[in-house]
Amino acid sequence: MLDNNLSGPVIKGLYIDGQWQAAPSQFDDINPSDGKIWAHIPDAGAVETKRAILAAHRAFPAWSSLRFQERARVMLKIADIWDKRAQDFVNAAQHEGGGSYGKGMFEAGHVSETFRAAAGLCYGSIGEILPSQHGKFSTALRVPTGVVGVISPWNVPGILTSRGFAFAMAIGNTIVLKPSEETPYAGGLFFAEVLDEAGVPNGVFNVITASRGRTPEVGDELIDNPFVKGISFTGSTPVGRRIAAKCGAHLKKCCIELGGKDSLIVLDDADMERATSAASFGAFFHQGQICMSVEKVLVHEKIYEEFLQKFVARAGKIKTGNTAEKSNVNGPLINAKQVARVKSQLDDAVQKGAKIVLGGGINGLFVDPTILTNVTSDMDIWRDETFGPVAVVASFRNDAEAIILNNDTEYGLSCGIISRNEQRALDMSEHLETGMCHINCSSINDETHAPFGGSKASGIGRHGGKWAMETFSETRWITMDRGGRQYPPAF
Ligand code: NAD
Repeated sequence: MLDNNLSGPVIKGLYIDGQWQAAPSQFDDINPSDGKIWAHIPDAGAVETKRAILAAHRAFPAWSSLRFQERARVMLKIADIWDKRAQDFVNAAQHEGGGSYGKGMFEAGHVSETFRAAAGLCYGSIGEILPSQHGKFSTALRVPTGVVGVISPWNVPGILTSRGFAFAMAIGNTIVLKPSEETPYAGGLFFAEVLDEAGVPNGVFNVITASRGRTPEVGDELIDNPFVKGISFTGSTPVGRRIAAKCGAHLKKCCIELGGKDSLIVLDDADMERATSAASFGAFFHQGQICMSVEKVLVHEKIYEEFLQKFVARAGKIKTGNTAEKSNVNGPLINAKQVARVKSQLDDAVQKGAKIVLGGGINGLFVDPTILTNVTSDMDIWRDETFGPVAVVASFRNDAEAIILNNDTEYGLSCGIISRNEQRALDMSEHLETGMCHINCSSINDETHAPFGGSKASGIGRHGGKWAMETFSETRWITMDRGGRQYPPAF
Protein backbone atom coordinates (compact mmCIF):
# COMPACT_ATOMS: atom_id res chain seq x y z
CA MET A 1 0.00 0.00 0.00
CA LEU A 2 1.49 3.37 -0.96
CA ASP A 3 1.36 6.35 1.32
CA ASN A 4 -0.87 8.90 -0.35
CA ASN A 5 -1.85 12.27 1.13
CA LEU A 6 -2.60 13.84 -2.23
CA SER A 7 -5.90 14.95 -3.74
CA GLY A 8 -6.08 11.87 -5.96
CA PRO A 9 -7.32 8.40 -4.95
CA VAL A 10 -5.60 5.99 -2.58
CA ILE A 11 -3.37 3.94 -4.85
CA LYS A 12 -3.36 0.32 -3.75
CA GLY A 13 -0.40 -0.89 -5.82
CA LEU A 14 0.18 -2.92 -8.95
CA TYR A 15 -2.54 -5.47 -9.64
CA ILE A 16 -1.02 -8.92 -10.21
CA ASP A 17 -2.74 -12.28 -9.83
CA GLY A 18 -5.71 -10.72 -8.03
CA GLN A 19 -3.44 -9.09 -5.40
CA TRP A 20 -2.31 -5.51 -4.85
CA GLN A 21 1.46 -5.58 -4.95
CA ALA A 22 4.20 -3.04 -4.25
CA ALA A 23 6.71 -1.81 -6.82
CA PRO A 24 10.34 -0.94 -6.01
CA SER A 25 9.65 2.79 -6.48
CA GLN A 26 6.96 5.25 -7.47
CA PHE A 27 6.49 8.20 -9.84
CA ASP A 28 4.44 11.40 -9.76
CA ASP A 29 1.09 11.58 -11.50
CA ILE A 30 0.50 15.27 -12.37
CA ASN A 31 -2.80 17.13 -12.80
CA PRO A 32 -2.17 19.08 -16.02
CA SER A 33 -4.75 21.75 -15.11
CA ASP A 34 -2.80 22.99 -12.06
CA GLY A 35 0.60 21.25 -12.32
CA LYS A 36 0.18 19.66 -8.86
CA ILE A 37 0.97 16.04 -7.98
CA TRP A 38 -2.36 14.21 -7.98
CA ALA A 39 -1.15 10.74 -6.98
CA HIS A 40 1.94 8.59 -6.53
CA ILE A 41 1.99 5.61 -8.84
CA PRO A 42 3.96 2.34 -8.58
CA ASP A 43 6.90 2.31 -11.00
CA ALA A 44 7.26 -1.27 -12.15
CA GLY A 45 9.94 -2.89 -14.29
CA ALA A 46 10.62 -6.16 -16.07
CA VAL A 47 10.50 -8.25 -12.85
CA GLU A 48 6.93 -7.23 -11.99
CA THR A 49 5.87 -7.50 -15.63
CA LYS A 50 7.20 -11.06 -15.79
CA ARG A 51 5.26 -11.89 -12.62
CA ALA A 52 2.06 -10.51 -14.14
CA ILE A 53 2.59 -12.43 -17.39
CA LEU A 54 3.15 -15.65 -15.49
CA ALA A 55 -0.06 -15.09 -13.51
CA ALA A 56 -2.00 -14.46 -16.73
CA HIS A 57 -0.45 -17.54 -18.34
CA ARG A 58 -1.48 -19.72 -15.37
CA ALA A 59 -5.00 -18.30 -15.39
CA PHE A 60 -5.52 -18.93 -19.12
CA PRO A 61 -6.57 -22.62 -19.14
CA ALA A 62 -9.37 -22.18 -16.58
CA TRP A 63 -10.61 -18.84 -17.98
CA SER A 64 -10.60 -19.97 -21.62
CA SER A 65 -12.44 -23.20 -20.80
CA LEU A 66 -15.06 -21.52 -18.63
CA ARG A 67 -18.50 -21.79 -20.21
CA PHE A 68 -19.11 -18.82 -22.47
CA GLN A 69 -22.20 -17.67 -20.54
CA GLU A 70 -20.15 -17.47 -17.37
CA ARG A 71 -17.53 -15.29 -19.04
CA ALA A 72 -20.38 -13.13 -20.38
CA ARG A 73 -21.80 -12.77 -16.86
CA VAL A 74 -18.43 -11.59 -15.57
CA MET A 75 -18.28 -8.96 -18.34
CA LEU A 76 -21.81 -7.79 -17.47
CA LYS A 77 -20.91 -7.56 -13.80
CA ILE A 78 -17.88 -5.43 -14.70
CA ALA A 79 -20.22 -3.13 -16.68
CA ASP A 80 -22.56 -2.74 -13.70
CA ILE A 81 -19.76 -1.95 -11.26
CA TRP A 82 -18.25 0.46 -13.76
CA ASP A 83 -21.59 2.28 -13.97
CA LYS A 84 -21.76 2.44 -10.17
CA ARG A 85 -18.30 4.00 -10.07
CA ALA A 86 -18.70 6.20 -13.15
CA GLN A 87 -18.29 9.46 -11.19
CA ASP A 88 -14.95 8.26 -9.79
CA PHE A 89 -13.80 7.67 -13.33
CA VAL A 90 -15.03 11.09 -14.48
CA ASN A 91 -13.18 12.71 -11.60
CA ALA A 92 -9.96 10.89 -12.52
CA ALA A 93 -10.29 11.70 -16.23
CA GLN A 94 -10.75 15.38 -15.34
CA HIS A 95 -7.92 15.71 -12.84
CA GLU A 96 -5.40 13.22 -14.13
CA GLY A 97 -6.17 13.53 -17.84
CA GLY A 98 -7.16 17.21 -18.15
CA GLY A 99 -10.42 16.29 -19.85
CA SER A 100 -13.62 18.28 -19.48
CA TYR A 101 -16.50 17.00 -17.34
CA GLY A 102 -18.58 16.31 -20.47
CA LYS A 103 -15.81 14.28 -22.06
CA GLY A 104 -15.49 12.22 -18.88
CA MET A 105 -19.23 11.51 -18.81
CA PHE A 106 -19.20 10.50 -22.47
CA GLU A 107 -16.26 8.15 -21.89
CA ALA A 108 -17.78 6.58 -18.80
CA GLY A 109 -20.96 5.67 -20.68
CA HIS A 110 -19.04 4.27 -23.63
CA VAL A 111 -16.87 2.06 -21.42
CA SER A 112 -19.76 0.18 -19.78
CA GLU A 113 -21.25 -0.24 -23.26
CA THR A 114 -17.95 -1.78 -24.34
CA PHE A 115 -18.13 -4.37 -21.57
CA ARG A 116 -21.73 -5.19 -22.53
CA ALA A 117 -20.80 -5.53 -26.20
CA ALA A 118 -17.94 -7.80 -25.15
CA ALA A 119 -20.41 -9.94 -23.19
CA GLY A 120 -22.55 -10.14 -26.34
CA LEU A 121 -19.56 -11.42 -28.30
CA CYS A 122 -19.52 -14.51 -26.05
CA TYR A 123 -22.83 -15.56 -27.66
CA GLY A 124 -21.59 -15.06 -31.22
CA SER A 125 -20.27 -17.54 -33.75
CA ILE A 126 -16.89 -19.09 -33.00
CA GLY A 127 -16.27 -20.49 -36.43
CA GLU A 128 -17.58 -21.95 -39.64
CA ILE A 129 -18.47 -25.34 -41.07
CA LEU A 130 -16.73 -26.01 -44.38
CA PRO A 131 -17.60 -28.41 -47.16
CA SER A 132 -15.09 -31.28 -47.46
CA GLN A 133 -14.07 -33.13 -50.58
CA HIS A 134 -13.85 -36.30 -48.47
CA GLY A 135 -17.18 -35.80 -46.79
CA LYS A 136 -15.46 -34.94 -43.52
CA PHE A 137 -16.94 -32.86 -40.76
CA SER A 138 -14.68 -29.84 -41.35
CA THR A 139 -14.59 -26.76 -39.17
CA ALA A 140 -12.69 -23.49 -38.97
CA LEU A 141 -12.67 -22.79 -35.26
CA ARG A 142 -11.81 -19.56 -33.50
CA VAL A 143 -9.83 -20.10 -30.30
CA PRO A 144 -8.37 -17.55 -27.87
CA THR A 145 -4.62 -17.10 -28.24
CA GLY A 146 -3.50 -16.91 -24.58
CA VAL A 147 -2.00 -13.93 -22.78
CA VAL A 148 -2.64 -10.61 -24.53
CA GLY A 149 -0.48 -7.60 -23.64
CA VAL A 150 -2.39 -4.31 -23.80
CA ILE A 151 -0.63 -0.93 -24.08
CA SER A 152 -2.97 2.06 -23.97
CA PRO A 153 -2.61 5.86 -24.43
CA TRP A 154 -3.59 8.78 -22.18
CA ASN A 155 -5.93 10.80 -24.37
CA VAL A 156 -9.08 8.72 -23.95
CA PRO A 157 -7.95 6.41 -21.14
CA GLY A 158 -11.31 4.80 -20.40
CA ILE A 159 -12.48 3.94 -23.89
CA LEU A 160 -9.10 3.04 -25.34
CA THR A 161 -8.09 0.84 -22.44
CA SER A 162 -11.44 -0.98 -22.26
CA ARG A 163 -11.56 -1.45 -26.02
CA GLY A 164 -8.00 -2.79 -25.89
CA PHE A 165 -8.83 -5.66 -23.57
CA ALA A 166 -12.60 -6.25 -23.07
CA PHE A 167 -13.29 -8.24 -26.25
CA ALA A 168 -10.01 -10.13 -25.98
CA MET A 169 -10.83 -11.12 -22.40
CA ALA A 170 -14.46 -12.00 -23.12
CA ILE A 171 -13.46 -14.62 -25.67
CA GLY A 172 -11.08 -16.33 -23.25
CA ASN A 173 -7.73 -14.56 -23.39
CA THR A 174 -6.05 -13.32 -20.23
CA ILE A 175 -4.65 -9.82 -19.95
CA VAL A 176 -1.62 -7.84 -18.82
CA LEU A 177 -2.37 -4.12 -19.17
CA LYS A 178 0.18 -1.32 -19.22
CA PRO A 179 -1.61 2.05 -19.22
CA SER A 180 0.03 5.33 -20.19
CA GLU A 181 2.26 6.96 -17.58
CA GLU A 182 0.10 10.11 -18.04
CA THR A 183 -3.13 8.38 -16.98
CA PRO A 184 -2.00 5.34 -14.99
CA TYR A 185 -5.07 5.47 -12.75
CA ALA A 186 -7.95 6.34 -15.13
CA GLY A 187 -6.54 4.04 -17.81
CA GLY A 188 -5.15 1.31 -15.54
CA LEU A 189 -5.44 0.98 -11.76
CA PHE A 190 -9.04 2.18 -11.72
CA PHE A 191 -9.91 -0.70 -14.05
CA ALA A 192 -8.12 -3.05 -11.62
CA GLU A 193 -10.35 -1.79 -8.78
CA VAL A 194 -13.48 -2.39 -10.87
CA LEU A 195 -12.49 -5.85 -12.11
CA ASP A 196 -11.34 -6.82 -8.62
CA GLU A 197 -14.75 -5.87 -7.22
CA ALA A 198 -16.43 -7.80 -10.03
CA GLY A 199 -14.67 -10.96 -8.85
CA VAL A 200 -12.70 -11.60 -12.03
CA PRO A 201 -10.67 -14.75 -11.27
CA ASN A 202 -7.09 -14.17 -10.11
CA GLY A 203 -4.59 -13.68 -12.93
CA VAL A 204 -7.16 -13.10 -15.68
CA PHE A 205 -6.57 -9.33 -15.57
CA ASN A 206 -3.34 -7.71 -14.38
CA VAL A 207 -2.16 -4.08 -14.39
CA ILE A 208 1.46 -2.93 -14.46
CA THR A 209 2.18 0.81 -14.20
CA ALA A 210 5.49 2.39 -15.15
CA SER A 211 7.05 5.83 -15.60
CA ARG A 212 8.14 6.92 -19.08
CA GLY A 213 11.73 6.03 -18.11
CA ARG A 214 10.85 2.43 -17.27
CA THR A 215 8.26 1.96 -20.01
CA PRO A 216 10.66 0.49 -22.61
CA GLU A 217 11.74 -2.17 -20.09
CA VAL A 218 8.13 -3.11 -19.37
CA GLY A 219 7.19 -2.92 -23.06
CA ASP A 220 10.08 -5.15 -24.10
CA GLU A 221 9.15 -7.80 -21.54
CA LEU A 222 5.54 -7.64 -22.61
CA ILE A 223 6.43 -8.33 -26.23
CA ASP A 224 9.48 -10.59 -25.87
CA ASN A 225 8.05 -12.91 -23.21
CA PRO A 226 7.08 -16.20 -24.93
CA PHE A 227 3.94 -16.57 -22.80
CA VAL A 228 2.48 -13.41 -24.42
CA LYS A 229 0.74 -14.40 -27.64
CA GLY A 230 -0.73 -11.11 -28.83
CA ILE A 231 -0.38 -7.34 -28.40
CA SER A 232 -3.08 -4.68 -28.49
CA PHE A 233 -1.40 -1.27 -28.85
CA THR A 234 -2.97 2.17 -29.15
CA GLY A 235 -0.69 5.17 -29.35
CA SER A 236 1.58 7.18 -31.58
CA THR A 237 2.84 6.06 -34.97
CA PRO A 238 6.58 6.16 -34.11
CA VAL A 239 6.11 3.91 -31.04
CA GLY A 240 3.55 1.74 -32.86
CA ARG A 241 5.98 1.07 -35.70
CA ARG A 242 8.58 -0.17 -33.21
CA ILE A 243 6.05 -2.35 -31.39
CA ALA A 244 4.78 -3.85 -34.67
CA ALA A 245 8.33 -4.56 -35.83
CA LYS A 246 9.13 -6.33 -32.57
CA CYS A 247 5.91 -8.34 -32.74
CA GLY A 248 6.79 -9.25 -36.32
CA ALA A 249 10.21 -10.51 -35.28
CA HIS A 250 8.51 -12.80 -32.73
CA LEU A 251 5.72 -13.72 -35.21
CA LYS A 252 3.16 -12.49 -32.68
CA LYS A 253 -0.26 -11.16 -33.55
CA CYS A 254 -0.71 -7.45 -32.98
CA CYS A 255 -3.46 -4.91 -33.36
CA ILE A 256 -1.90 -1.46 -33.74
CA GLU A 257 -4.08 1.68 -33.61
CA LEU A 258 -2.08 4.82 -34.33
CA GLY A 259 -2.22 8.51 -35.12
CA GLY A 260 -4.19 10.39 -37.74
CA LYS A 261 -4.42 13.56 -39.82
CA ASP A 262 -8.13 13.51 -40.52
CA SER A 263 -10.07 15.80 -42.82
CA LEU A 264 -13.62 17.06 -42.77
CA ILE A 265 -14.64 17.64 -46.39
CA VAL A 266 -17.38 20.24 -46.80
CA LEU A 267 -19.02 20.08 -50.23
CA ASP A 268 -20.72 23.10 -51.82
CA ASP A 269 -24.20 21.72 -51.07
CA ALA A 270 -23.48 21.24 -47.34
CA ASP A 271 -25.83 22.26 -44.56
CA MET A 272 -23.78 25.07 -43.01
CA GLU A 273 -24.94 24.47 -39.43
CA ARG A 274 -24.06 20.78 -39.73
CA ALA A 275 -20.71 21.60 -41.30
CA THR A 276 -19.55 24.17 -38.73
CA SER A 277 -20.70 22.10 -35.75
CA ALA A 278 -18.98 18.96 -37.11
CA ALA A 279 -15.80 20.98 -37.68
CA SER A 280 -15.88 22.61 -34.24
CA PHE A 281 -16.59 19.38 -32.34
CA GLY A 282 -14.15 17.44 -34.51
CA ALA A 283 -11.29 19.91 -34.13
CA PHE A 284 -11.69 21.05 -30.53
CA PHE A 285 -13.21 18.15 -28.53
CA HIS A 286 -10.68 17.30 -25.81
CA GLN A 287 -8.34 20.02 -27.06
CA GLY A 288 -7.91 18.19 -30.36
CA GLN A 289 -6.21 15.31 -28.57
CA ILE A 290 -8.25 12.60 -30.25
CA CYS A 291 -6.70 10.32 -32.86
CA MET A 292 -9.69 11.04 -35.14
CA SER A 293 -9.69 14.82 -34.57
CA VAL A 294 -10.50 17.00 -37.55
CA GLU A 295 -7.11 18.56 -38.32
CA LYS A 296 -7.86 19.72 -41.87
CA VAL A 297 -11.18 21.24 -42.93
CA LEU A 298 -11.39 21.11 -46.73
CA VAL A 299 -14.12 23.42 -48.01
CA HIS A 300 -15.47 23.89 -51.52
CA GLU A 301 -14.33 27.28 -52.84
CA LYS A 302 -17.92 28.39 -53.50
CA ILE A 303 -18.79 28.37 -49.79
CA TYR A 304 -15.30 28.86 -48.31
CA GLU A 305 -15.71 32.44 -47.06
CA GLU A 306 -19.13 31.84 -45.51
CA PHE A 307 -17.94 28.63 -43.84
CA LEU A 308 -14.77 30.24 -42.46
CA GLN A 309 -16.63 33.17 -40.96
CA LYS A 310 -19.23 30.91 -39.27
CA PHE A 311 -16.66 28.36 -38.09
CA VAL A 312 -14.50 31.09 -36.50
CA ALA A 313 -17.57 32.61 -34.82
CA ARG A 314 -18.62 29.23 -33.40
CA ALA A 315 -15.16 28.15 -32.21
CA GLY A 316 -14.53 31.58 -30.69
CA LYS A 317 -17.18 30.81 -28.03
CA ILE A 318 -15.37 27.75 -26.61
CA LYS A 319 -14.22 28.39 -23.03
CA THR A 320 -10.64 27.56 -22.03
CA GLY A 321 -9.47 26.79 -18.47
CA ASN A 322 -9.05 24.33 -15.59
CA THR A 323 -11.42 21.44 -16.27
CA ALA A 324 -12.38 21.22 -12.59
CA GLU A 325 -14.75 24.02 -13.65
CA LYS A 326 -17.53 22.27 -15.62
CA SER A 327 -18.07 25.08 -18.13
CA ASN A 328 -14.45 24.91 -19.33
CA VAL A 329 -14.52 22.76 -22.45
CA ASN A 330 -10.98 23.45 -23.69
CA GLY A 331 -8.68 22.20 -20.93
CA PRO A 332 -4.91 21.86 -20.81
CA LEU A 333 -2.83 19.74 -23.15
CA ILE A 334 -1.48 16.73 -21.32
CA ASN A 335 2.14 17.87 -20.99
CA ALA A 336 4.79 20.37 -22.09
CA LYS A 337 6.00 18.03 -24.84
CA GLN A 338 2.60 18.17 -26.54
CA VAL A 339 2.49 21.97 -26.21
CA ALA A 340 5.97 22.22 -27.77
CA ARG A 341 4.81 20.06 -30.68
CA VAL A 342 1.81 22.32 -31.33
CA LYS A 343 3.90 25.49 -30.96
CA SER A 344 6.56 24.27 -33.35
CA GLN A 345 3.96 23.44 -36.01
CA LEU A 346 2.30 26.86 -35.57
CA ASP A 347 5.64 28.70 -35.73
CA ASP A 348 6.67 26.77 -38.83
CA ALA A 349 3.35 27.50 -40.55
CA VAL A 350 3.27 31.22 -39.69
CA GLN A 351 6.88 31.66 -40.72
CA LYS A 352 6.05 30.10 -44.10
CA GLY A 353 3.01 32.37 -44.64
CA ALA A 354 0.02 30.80 -42.84
CA LYS A 355 -2.50 33.16 -41.24
CA ILE A 356 -3.97 32.65 -37.75
CA VAL A 357 -7.63 33.70 -38.01
CA LEU A 358 -8.60 32.56 -34.51
CA GLY A 359 -6.65 31.91 -31.31
CA GLY A 360 -2.95 31.19 -31.44
CA GLY A 361 -2.50 31.99 -27.73
CA ILE A 362 -0.51 29.58 -25.54
CA ASN A 363 -0.47 29.94 -21.77
CA GLY A 364 1.41 27.15 -19.99
CA LEU A 365 -0.34 23.93 -21.00
CA PHE A 366 -3.41 25.79 -22.28
CA VAL A 367 -3.65 26.40 -26.03
CA ASP A 368 -6.56 28.51 -27.33
CA PRO A 369 -8.76 26.99 -30.04
CA THR A 370 -6.87 28.02 -33.16
CA ILE A 371 -7.83 28.21 -36.84
CA LEU A 372 -5.28 28.64 -39.62
CA THR A 373 -5.65 29.55 -43.29
CA ASN A 374 -3.15 30.02 -46.15
CA VAL A 375 -1.54 26.71 -45.26
CA THR A 376 0.62 25.11 -47.96
CA SER A 377 1.87 21.59 -48.37
CA ASP A 378 5.46 22.48 -47.43
CA MET A 379 4.33 23.24 -43.85
CA ASP A 380 4.64 20.53 -41.17
CA ILE A 381 1.09 21.21 -40.05
CA TRP A 382 -0.30 20.13 -43.42
CA ARG A 383 0.78 16.50 -43.10
CA ASP A 384 1.97 15.75 -39.54
CA GLU A 385 -0.41 15.00 -36.71
CA THR A 386 -0.84 18.09 -34.47
CA PHE A 387 -2.80 16.59 -31.55
CA GLY A 388 -3.86 19.99 -30.25
CA PRO A 389 -6.79 22.43 -30.64
CA VAL A 390 -5.72 23.61 -34.09
CA ALA A 391 -7.62 23.33 -37.38
CA VAL A 392 -6.37 24.16 -40.84
CA VAL A 393 -9.02 25.41 -43.29
CA ALA A 394 -8.25 25.05 -46.99
CA SER A 395 -10.36 25.32 -50.12
CA PHE A 396 -10.76 22.97 -53.10
CA ARG A 397 -12.23 23.43 -56.57
CA ASN A 398 -13.88 20.07 -57.20
CA ASP A 399 -14.42 16.65 -55.65
CA ALA A 400 -11.36 15.12 -57.30
CA GLU A 401 -9.16 17.77 -55.73
CA ALA A 402 -10.75 17.23 -52.29
CA ILE A 403 -9.85 13.54 -52.53
CA ILE A 404 -6.23 14.37 -53.39
CA LEU A 405 -5.97 16.82 -50.48
CA ASN A 406 -7.47 14.31 -48.05
CA ASN A 407 -5.07 11.56 -49.15
CA ASP A 408 -1.99 13.80 -49.05
CA THR A 409 -0.66 12.35 -45.77
CA GLU A 410 0.91 9.10 -44.60
CA TYR A 411 -2.01 8.68 -42.18
CA GLY A 412 -5.39 7.16 -42.99
CA LEU A 413 -7.57 6.89 -39.90
CA SER A 414 -10.97 8.53 -40.35
CA CYS A 415 -12.67 11.39 -42.19
CA GLY A 416 -16.01 13.14 -42.56
CA ILE A 417 -17.90 14.41 -45.60
CA ILE A 418 -20.70 16.97 -45.33
CA SER A 419 -23.13 17.10 -48.26
CA ARG A 420 -26.87 17.10 -48.93
CA ASN A 421 -26.21 14.75 -51.85
CA GLU A 422 -25.79 11.32 -50.26
CA GLN A 423 -24.82 9.59 -53.51
CA ARG A 424 -22.11 12.16 -54.23
CA ALA A 425 -20.67 11.73 -50.75
CA LEU A 426 -20.81 7.92 -50.94
CA ASP A 427 -19.00 8.00 -54.30
CA MET A 428 -16.33 10.20 -52.75
CA SER A 429 -15.95 7.92 -49.70
CA GLU A 430 -14.77 5.09 -51.98
CA HIS A 431 -11.67 7.07 -52.93
CA LEU A 432 -10.56 8.25 -49.51
CA GLU A 433 -7.61 6.29 -48.11
CA THR A 434 -8.93 5.90 -44.57
CA GLY A 435 -10.07 2.99 -42.43
CA MET A 436 -13.28 4.86 -41.53
CA CYS A 437 -15.43 7.52 -43.21
CA HIS A 438 -18.55 9.22 -41.85
CA ILE A 439 -20.98 11.06 -44.10
CA ASN A 440 -22.71 14.11 -42.68
CA CYS A 441 -20.79 13.70 -39.46
CA SER A 442 -17.47 14.58 -37.92
CA SER A 443 -14.54 12.19 -38.30
CA ILE A 444 -14.80 11.41 -34.56
CA ASN A 445 -17.03 8.34 -34.28
CA ASP A 446 -16.84 5.16 -32.25
CA GLU A 447 -19.45 2.48 -31.60
CA THR A 448 -18.47 -0.54 -29.58
CA HIS A 449 -19.66 -3.13 -32.11
CA ALA A 450 -18.27 -1.46 -35.26
CA PRO A 451 -14.88 -2.10 -36.92
CA PHE A 452 -12.54 0.59 -35.62
CA GLY A 453 -9.12 1.07 -37.19
CA GLY A 454 -6.96 2.84 -39.70
CA SER A 455 -5.23 2.41 -43.03
CA LYS A 456 -1.70 3.40 -44.06
CA ALA A 457 0.37 4.69 -41.09
CA SER A 458 -2.74 4.79 -38.86
CA GLY A 459 -2.43 1.14 -37.97
CA ILE A 460 -3.18 -2.49 -38.66
CA GLY A 461 -6.00 -4.62 -37.29
CA ARG A 462 -9.47 -3.73 -36.09
CA HIS A 463 -11.06 -3.31 -32.67
CA GLY A 464 -14.76 -3.64 -31.93
CA GLY A 465 -17.44 -6.33 -32.01
CA LYS A 466 -16.86 -9.38 -34.15
CA TRP A 467 -13.77 -7.75 -35.68
CA ALA A 468 -12.13 -7.97 -32.28
CA MET A 469 -12.85 -11.70 -32.39
CA GLU A 470 -10.73 -11.93 -35.55
CA THR A 471 -8.04 -9.79 -33.98
CA PHE A 472 -7.68 -11.65 -30.71
CA SER A 473 -8.29 -15.27 -31.70
CA GLU A 474 -6.53 -17.80 -33.84
CA THR A 475 -8.32 -19.85 -36.49
CA ARG A 476 -7.77 -23.61 -36.30
CA TRP A 477 -8.89 -26.11 -38.94
CA ILE A 478 -10.38 -29.12 -37.19
CA THR A 479 -11.77 -32.04 -39.20
CA MET A 480 -13.35 -35.40 -38.40
CA ASP A 481 -13.23 -38.16 -41.01
CA ARG A 482 -16.21 -40.42 -41.35
CA GLY A 483 -14.59 -43.04 -43.59
CA GLY A 484 -14.72 -40.94 -46.76
CA ARG A 485 -11.02 -40.39 -47.36
CA GLN A 486 -9.17 -43.18 -49.21
CA TYR A 487 -5.33 -43.29 -49.00
CA PRO A 488 -3.25 -44.31 -52.05
CA PRO A 489 -3.18 -48.16 -52.24
CA ALA A 490 0.66 -48.26 -51.86
CA PHE A 491 0.09 -47.28 -48.25
P1 NAD B 1 2.61 7.01 -27.18
O1 NAD B 1 2.94 6.20 -28.38
O2 NAD B 1 3.63 7.94 -26.67
O3 NAD B 1 2.24 6.04 -25.96
C1 NAD B 1 1.24 5.07 -26.07
C2 NAD B 1 1.54 3.97 -25.09
O4 NAD B 1 2.76 3.34 -25.46
C3 NAD B 1 1.75 4.47 -23.66
O5 NAD B 1 1.21 3.54 -22.75
C4 NAD B 1 3.25 4.50 -23.53
O6 NAD B 1 3.70 4.35 -22.22
C5 NAD B 1 3.60 3.28 -24.36
N1 NAD B 1 4.97 3.24 -24.83
C6 NAD B 1 5.79 4.26 -25.14
N2 NAD B 1 7.02 3.78 -25.50
C7 NAD B 1 6.95 2.44 -25.41
C8 NAD B 1 7.85 1.37 -25.65
N3 NAD B 1 9.10 1.60 -26.05
N4 NAD B 1 7.44 0.10 -25.43
C9 NAD B 1 6.19 -0.14 -25.04
N5 NAD B 1 5.28 0.82 -24.79
C10 NAD B 1 5.65 2.09 -24.98
O7 NAD B 1 1.24 7.74 -27.50
P2 NAD B 1 0.43 8.72 -26.55
O8 NAD B 1 1.14 10.02 -26.53
O9 NAD B 1 0.11 8.07 -25.26
O10 NAD B 1 -0.96 8.84 -27.34
C11 NAD B 1 -1.16 9.76 -28.34
C12 NAD B 1 -1.02 9.11 -29.69
O11 NAD B 1 -1.89 8.00 -29.78
C13 NAD B 1 -1.43 10.03 -30.82
O12 NAD B 1 -0.55 9.89 -31.90
C14 NAD B 1 -2.81 9.51 -31.20
O13 NAD B 1 -3.20 9.81 -32.50
C15 NAD B 1 -2.67 8.06 -30.97
N6 NAD B 1 -3.97 7.43 -30.75
C16 NAD B 1 -4.47 6.56 -31.67
C17 NAD B 1 -5.73 6.01 -31.51
C18 NAD B 1 -6.34 5.07 -32.50
O14 NAD B 1 -7.27 4.36 -32.15
N7 NAD B 1 -5.87 5.01 -33.74
C19 NAD B 1 -6.47 6.34 -30.38
C20 NAD B 1 -5.92 7.23 -29.46
C21 NAD B 1 -4.66 7.76 -29.64
